[in-house]
Amino acid sequence: MKISVKAPAKINLSLDVLHKREDGYHEVEMVMTTIDLADRIELTTMERNVIIIDSTGGYVPSDERNLAYQAADLVKKNFKRKEGVRIHIDKQIPVSAGLAGGSSDAAATLKGLNQLWDLGLSIEELATLGAEIGSDVSFCVYGGTALAKGRGEIIRQIPSPPPCWVVLAKPSIGVSTADVYRMLKLADVQHPDTAAMLNAIEEKDYNKICASLWNVLESVTLQQYQEVRHIKEQMQRLGAEGVLMSGSGPTVFSLTMYESRAQRIYNGLRGFCNEVYMVRMLGESE
Ligand code: ATP
Repeated sequence: MKISVKAPAKINLSLDVLHKREDGYHEVEMVMTTIDLADRIELTTMERNVIIIDSTGGYVPSDERNLAYQAADLVKKNFKRKEGVRIHIDKQIPVSAGLAGGSSDAAATLKGLNQLWDLGLSIEELATLGAEIGSDVSFCVYGGTALAKGRGEIIRQIPSPPPCWVVLAKPSIGVSTADVYRMLKLADVQHPDTAAMLNAIEEKDYNKICASLWNVLESVTLQQYQEVRHIKEQMQRLGAEGVLMSGSGPTVFSLTMYESRAQRIYNGLRGFCNEVYMVRMLGESE
């Protein structure tokens, strides 16, 4: 028995950090949406009681550090399943990019096993299970567009923004999410107007969405890495209507309504950046 599940990347339309909690996590408020840049997960049931991961991408662990492995392990333990599963990951989402690639693979594994093993779990139950693996997994279970609160695991689904082009560029540097949070000086940052972003999406007001894009982590990463600064400036110069870093970076994305403009931004960035993607915003959960 085999099943194939799509695992789309997410971008943050806004990302706010409210305060550090006593449990060490940061209390966040994020507006996230899925884009048409996706890994494909193929799950095959095996008689042998093992979890085997193979992936097409480099830098992806094939043992219990892989979030898809952790998802399968969690399902097996919670539901006392004795069969095994082979998880093939066709990796298209850049790794450690701020696009929740690993979390989306975990979410797709949860959804796939729910079908493959006929577990009968609701989306809410799968999202609760996902939160045990990582803060972004719950959102990835729902997909679409959502406001995420708490440490990222409290999800309120919202309407989709108007469809547009998204051009993403990831400089070849590694950014540690933990370091970015450590360097964040909450007293000094300018916070996003999350309510304005939610309104803009509700009203499908594309210009207001672009004007409300804001990520509190961006200033930390921009200060640290001139590559990220450079990409952001280039995207603005090439005419993107909105530009923002996703998550803790280093990927920067630009929004545009026009295919020709998206193509121009894509071509302009290909000159000095290896990982550039031009995709559509998905917005709706599939
Ligand atoms: P987020 O946006 O949720 O912070 P990210 O896009 O920055 O995530 P990922 O691509 O999910 O980062 O990878 C982060 C780390 O997780 C990498 O160091 C990688 O080795 C590990 N990892 C575990 N499982 C996966 C997976 N299935 N795909 C990619 N990376 C994985």
